[in-house]
Amino acid sequence: MKKILLFRIPMSICDFRCHYCYIAQRPVHFQGIQPEFKYAPAEVANALSMKRLGGPCFMNFCADGETLLTKNLDLYVKALVEEGHYAEVVTNLTVSNVLDKFLSWDKELLKRLEFKCSFHYLELKRKGWLERFAENVHKIWEAGASANIELAPSDELIPYLDEVKDYSMKNFGALPQLTILRDDRTSNIDYLTKMSEEEYNRTWKPFGSTFWEFKKTIFGKKQTGYCYAGAWSAYIDLTTGDATGCYGYVNLGNVFENPEKPFPHKAVGKCPFAHCYNGHAMLSMGLIPHLNDVHYGYLRDRKKNDGGTWLQPELRSFFDEKLEDSNELDSRLTQMLNPIDRLKDRVLNKLKRTFRP
Ligand code: SF4
Repeated sequence: MKKILLFRIPMSICDFRCHYCYIAQRPVHFQGIQPEFKYAPAEVANALSMKRLGGPCFMNFCADGETLLTKNLDLYVKALVEEGHYAEVVTNLTVSNVLDKFLSWDKELLKRLEFKCSFHYLELKRKGWLERFAENVHKIWEAGASANIELAPSDELIPYLDEVKDYSMKNFGALPQLTILRDDRTSNIDYLTKMSEEEYNRTWKPFGSTFWEFKKTIFGKKQTGYCYAGAWSAYIDLTTGDATGCYGYVNLGNVFENPEKPFPHKAVGKCPFAHCYNGHAMLSMGLIPHLNDVHYGYLRDRKKNDGGTWLQPELRSFFDEKLEDSNELDSRLTQMLNPIDRLKDRVLNKLKRTFRP
């Protein structure tokens, strides 16, 4: 695994209205507008070729709303998987006709495709779509792709926990993995719950979720190690190619514009954020080398009661790789000079913005 590329898709159309949704917490949300893509799928694949990136990469696609409602998204993901990369598509798995387009790909490509299925139980129940969700999970597995099921552990779900568990065992052969809901309105990005920590742990621990257990170890914890986000990862707007190292920090410029130029390499170094709230991927894949022995595939996968697994073996083994095994570490001197380099970047960017014609 050479890099982690996280694609932001500024498209907030959604067929759900989950009460805990972090998009709904923003002042402007669900505008119902399809974004315009400046670059065609072939141009994006050319800009992110294996040759330019140095090898296969993990690519995550997530819209502000329901990802599968983004027009032509399947064509972009396909072009990148054809290039040799591995894709993770975040979805509520209700848009069956678009899912079917993905699943019509060649079997060899489907081996490198995974759907992170956000399991919004109460919305699925309210809309009468529980059956559709389960059918779509099975369609993914039968087609030869990977699906993992992730439940949002909200306080409102507590009265329904027995039925959630029954439904999951029956349809997914295992309990869902759990995420951690966060409250983006708080300055420290806290847990979104009214429960005490003790009650919260007592309620959700019985799910035995490796994903939740790992997230808890990094949630609220300031990362102090040298972080290679921006060098081994990028956060890219799929509609424009504008990229940063990590969630708006360290400007990498436009990565689609000049595909003949080397891909930018600007390590963040010292993490500027209160905590690495999406570190389930970034820290398990190793953006801070040797921080832990945890592997991303282990966090996502589950064994089913019929003996199978949620992730296909080839994809699981790629997801379990560590970035430090396929990338060179910055020298001690580069690491020492990193804060000066990042400061220079910030000053230059500010000047460019001020004097833009
Ligand atoms: S520690 Fe996490 S949040 Fe901080 S820069 Fe690295 S990847 Fe980003």
